Amino acid sequence: MSDRPKVYRVGDVTVTRVTEMVIGGVSPEIYFPGSWDPDFLESNNDSLPAGLIDSNAQLIVTIGTWVVKTPEHTILIDTATGNDKNLPLNPDLANLQLPYLERLKDAGVTPEEVDYVLLTHLHVDHVGWNTKLVDGHWVPTFPNARYVFPLKEQEYYGSTASHNSKNEADFNVFEESVLPVIEAGLAETIGPEGGVFLDRFTFIPTPGHSIGQMSISLRSGGEEALFGADVMHHPFQVLHPEWNSMYCEFEDQARASRRFVLEHIADRPVIYFSTHFPESAAGYVTREGNGFKWSFI
Ligand SMILES: [Zn+2]
Repeated sequence: MSDRPKVYRVGDVTVTRVTEMVIGGVSPEIYFPGSWDPDFLESNNDSLPAGLIDSNAQLIVTIGTWVVKTPEHTILIDTATGNDKNLPLNPDLANLQLPYLERLKDAGVTPEEVDYVLLTHLHVDHVGWNTKLVDGHWVPTFPNARYVFPLKEQEYYGSTASHNSKNEADFNVFEESVLPVIEAGLAETIGPEGGVFLDRFTFIPTPGHSIGQMSISLRSGGEEALFGADVMHHPFQVLHPEWNSMYCEFEDQARASRRFVLEHIADRPVIYFSTHFPESAAGYVTREGNGFKWSFI
């Protein structure tokens, strides 16, 4: 069952998607609370690519990782949900048994080969494979990697402050998926201003969805890409940047960051690598009329 994944090139770097889960049947009314327009599908029929909704007009979303290979390093961007997790407040993502590591292998990576794990933020569906359960203990899945993430995320989700936030889905996540890599001495943090990392990458603050989320830009050989994290969850938000998902914790900031990213990539050939879009999860944003348009690549 090994489908060879599609490989994108950005200068001398390759980027490959490893999808952990494809989730259909997601109600748009629930996913975009207070925003969803029931006439949206009909009025945008001509400008929407295929594959965004299922046969019942419900959203299709995915959860996944981007594998980035530079001439020097093997890098993962975000690590999906993970297996065996104890998530009493999030039963849909709890105790998964998915062949993520086999799919990673299909994308040409063994856990030992990973040099860096770059995390855009510390929500449940972005940090899970940081660790795996061995003999009842959570241990780093990528033993030779440095795990790099925004400091603000650690400060917030590692404290009780986040327990009052709307993301109850993240209960237990820090303890099982982040703390073990910190305790193993493998963690490195990025300050609130972001900045250049390993020459080709730049952490760009795009807060709102979570308290300190950062998008990660990649520049190589005159080409450019952006790993947008959860600035957007679904291509519908390219057409409606004001629509927040149900998971966006700081709503005004989330809208501002989404608008900033769209403006930043719309006029140049910047590949946008999403975390949760369906299909390839990668594409381009261009301008159309007064707004923006999404095309998969
Ligand atoms: Zn997410």
